[in-house]
Amino acid sequence: MRKKIVAGNWKMNLNYEEGQKLTSEIVNMYKDENIKDVTVVLNPPFVHLFPVKKLIGNTPNLFLGSQNCSEKAAGAYTGETSASMLKSFGAEYVILGHSERREYFKESNELLTAKVRQALDNGLTPIFCCGEPLEIREAGTHEAYVKNQLTESLFGLSAEDFAKIVIAYEPIWAIGTGKTASSDQAQEMHKALREHLASKFGQEAADNTSILYGGSCNPGNAKDIFSKVDVDGGLIGGASLKSRDFMDIIKSF
Ligand code: PEP
Repeated sequence: MRKKIVAGNWKMNLNYEEGQKLTSEIVNMYKDENIKDVTVVLNPPFVHLFPVKKLIGNTPNLFLGSQNCSEKAAGAYTGETSASMLKSFGAEYVILGHSERREYFKESNELLTAKVRQALDNGLTPIFCCGEPLEIREAGTHEAYVKNQLTESLFGLSAEDFAKIVIAYEPIWAIGTGKTASSDQAQEMHKALREHLASKFGQEAADNTSILYGGSCNPGNAKDIFSKVDVDGGLIGGASLKSRDFMDIIKSF
């Protein structure tokens, strides 16, 4: 059985007080509203990790994640943060290959292979992002494009390591634009990606892999998107900054 997961990506938003307020609200609502069977991950910027973890404490099924980690283990890499540091501060997950990092920080499929390695070696679960830009969608080559992202970054993994990966399919044209993929478009891609994973790692491994949808997911469309058989949850940007919206998305299964 694959996990249902909702992960919030705060991106570069919120100061210390705002981050503490948002986290406290989410933790309290999460406990009060008796959420079951959904793994929730908060992914704040690096400086928030420790104080957010303090508020999360040991709340069952509520985890801390980072938005990035270095591809290096340690050393003279000014400004970088290693996977082992993240783990030691209480992170369990790390978002890797978000389209903003691919675009603005030129992260390649090859670099992401090294980041995935660091994450796995340090006991972090990668939430590996993939997705196509608008021109690729319009050209109709999106399936091949996204499959290639998975092939180049993940197909060198052992079966044991692959079993620890979470995938997030995020069509770039839907991220932060208010333009969501339809639930049918999401299902079509998730199914194709699962088949692609099965061709390398076998049907059982593919069936056990959580594939999240990301791209302008909100309380109004989450139920429809999450109802699709190959959609196992969401990676949520803008709506994860509002506690009520984020909770309503979590409750959309
Ligand atoms: C994201 O940043 O991964 C994302 C899906 O953002 P938004 O929900 O704002 O589109």
